[in-house]
Amino acid sequence: MSISDRFAELAHLRDALGAEEADPTRIVMERILSSTEAMIGNRPTILVGTNNYLGLTFDPAVLEAASAALHEQGSGTTGSRMANGSFACHAALERAFADFYGVPSAMVFSTGYQTNLGLLMGILRPGDKVVLDSHSHACIYDGCRISGADFLAFRHNDPEDLRKRLRRLGDEAKGALVIAEGLYSMLGDTAPLAELCAIAKEYGAWFMVDEAHSFGVYGERGLGLCEEAGILDQVDFITGTFSKSLASLGGFCVSRHPELQLLRYGSRPYIFTASPSPASIGAAAAALEAVRTRPELKANLWANATRLHDGLSAAGYELAAPVSPVIAVRVPSREEGARIWNALMEHGVYVNLVLPPAAPEGAALLRCSLSAAHSFDQIDAIIAAFKTVAPEAATRAAQSTAAQ
Ligand code: PMP
Repeated sequence: MSISDRFAELAHLRDALGAEEADPTRIVMERILSSTEAMIGNRPTILVGTNNYLGLTFDPAVLEAASAALHEQGSGTTGSRMANGSFACHAALERAFADFYGVPSAMVFSTGYQTNLGLLMGILRPGDKVVLDSHSHACIYDGCRISGADFLAFRHNDPEDLRKRLRRLGDEAKGALVIAEGLYSMLGDTAPLAELCAIAKEYGAWFMVDEAHSFGVYGERGLGLCEEAGILDQVDFITGTFSKSLASLGGFCVSRHPELQLLRYGSRPYIFTASPSPASIGAAAAALEAVRTRPELKANLWANATRLHDGLSAAGYELAAPVSPVIAVRVPSREEGARIWNALMEHGVYVNLVLPPAAPEGAALLRCSLSAAHSFDQIDAIIAAFKTVAPEAATRAAQSTAAQ
């Protein structure tokens, strides 16, 4: 196949999005006004489709730490952790993660994507067995694929299906790697981690959890869903990102196995890329401190999530999961999804439009994600916009109330 064939294939992917009005790549945030508002075109818009769960991107302590790091250590490291790119700030942040989790090992990577790639390419070899949740993020699939391991998916959030697949592996289940996420970012549903972990351990498999969307958001101390499920002492690897609750760029992996550190010698996505910039590390470190010391952020986030979930349900919208910081509205067709998405934007509300194949089930999703920094007035404005753009949803709600 030639390069021009490849371009034709890419153009086909673009065309599959439908008309220009369903193309999310055309959205540019012209000016960022705050952690919950931006100018899109010339319209001030409430952002309810980010991953800024704790709303820390404009937090004074985070900005101050990023700015101090920028001025004291420069704009970039210009090198790999393996060479000139290991600064004291990288090592200090790794220690902070290890201490926060109470584990011997933590590693920092340049993005969340590279964290999963780096861990999986570091520990898997051709022929190794992996059983992963079917809704796993692309970087988990990519890490498995590039490593050459044999991987197969269990049905999303279905512990019995995991058990079936491990049983079928026979002796090879021992030493296999089972992978799940905490909070799934498209549907906003959470994994039954205690059950998945128990099954993995029963078969002698390792267990890895990606807490990209759940770190800072779940668990008494904000450590994520592994903390909430009470499995911190059993899970083998936890990965996460700085690009969501931690309001920065980069990623982390923690492990109860001290050998995690050996990845520094053999993980290509860790070695063959520049280390995160001092400003990114400064921001992430200050945001981590906020997760540790400001539980009110998590409380605000949950209050906002509950208000939006209640408001959209009462307005007749079909929501994909119980309340969580990600609230996915199911829409019957991609055309209707694109229409509502655009209409919301005209009313000054930005959500994520998710179309197949990115939408894991059904025709389309309007993905709303909350921030601790949203005000109740903003949440009410979002609900009002949803009611205005799809009055038929309200009619459905009224009918179902009348029928009860
Ligand atoms: N894991 C999951 C579950 C994600 O959703 C994402 C990004 N959306 C990543 C990893 C990658 O993180 P990053 O954007 O920081 O590279």
